[in-house]
Amino acid sequence: MGSNENRKQPRKAIYILMLAVVGILLIFGVSLLLGRASAKKSSLEADASGVPVSGVSENFENEDVPNGTGSTVVKKQYQETADSMSSKNGTLRMTKPHIYLRVNHEQKLPLKLSAGVTISDITCSLSDTDVADVTDGVITGLQAGECTIVASYGSEFVQIPVTVRELAVENECTYVDGILIVNKSYGLPREYNPGMLPITAQAFAQLKADASVEGLNIYEGSGYRDYDFQVKCYESIVSAYGKEYADTYSARPGYSEHQTGYTIDCNTINDEFGETDEGKWLAENCHKYGFVIRYPQGKEDITGYAYESWHIRYVGIEHATAMYEQGLTLEEYLDVDSDYKE
Ligand SMILES: [Zn+2]
Repeated sequence: MGSNENRKQPRKAIYILMLAVVGILLIFGVSLLLGRASAKKSSLEADASGVPVSGVSENFENEDVPNGTGSTVVKKQYQETADSMSSKNGTLRMTKPHIYLRVNHEQKLPLKLSAGVTISDITCSLSDTDVADVTDGVITGLQAGECTIVASYGSEFVQIPVTVRELAVENECTYVDGILIVNKSYGLPREYNPGMLPITAQAFAQLKADASVEGLNIYEGSGYRDYDFQVKCYESIVSAYGKEYADTYSARPGYSEHQTGYTIDCNTINDEFGETDEGKWLAENCHKYGFVIRYPQGKEDITGYAYESWHIRYVGIEHATAMYEQGLTLEEYLDVDSDYKE
């Protein structure tokens, strides 16, 4: 998207527009802050009542509108070290090391077969038939849990783990296996206003400190943004460039991940950030602190957003590492879509 020349001028113009809106914002600043201070705190999570550490930036330049050119993020390819992904003569091969599935969702098995072998020649079995069902090469989640799927052909077999998760809605917030999901399909209520969560701030502080030891300067460009802030951001872009453009580069109010308190935009909002030493280090190391690059390059159709090398989301070290090693987005990992239901 950064290579599209026609996009560059509108992006620069958006910045000018945003700067103009900052003036208007200052007028409303006092009332905005008062409103925010009295906003109801969420009681959904133990750490949701944490004191904001970054506050709301009153600067529209922090909105996620890239202004540079395209870049490439080097994704580590998942090592197919497990012999169990490929059968001894190579007749069967699993193209994914792990199946992630939601209850009542089905997926075609990620199974590659040699020429002349069809799915009807394959015998599939699950270690726990309460967790999932497999029929005619399609696996269906039945209840939350873990199991193993074995696909065999004669004496050859492949075997990978299966995780089935349940989606739950509490107080208009959507969780999959306890992970809060916010994208174009799943929004947050206006009252959800936790501020930057301490768990996010602490993990980022460690990331920043470790990066600085290597001579890299990674800092918080933008962190928590509440619902009302997003209203102003989104509407200013829609009025200038229309809804389609706004939906690609910004989030509708209630659908910004910055409202979760788990999200940080690092350094400057610029496509070229991904090519800097800081951007490369972030992509390769942020999972060690529990963060993921939330909108990776090449996954735009899955996340619903253009590539953002600077936007990281806290999910915890275990989940972040699994997503990093397997090259998965949060949508793929939790088996959810990201699409406005208009
Ligand atoms: Zn962002």
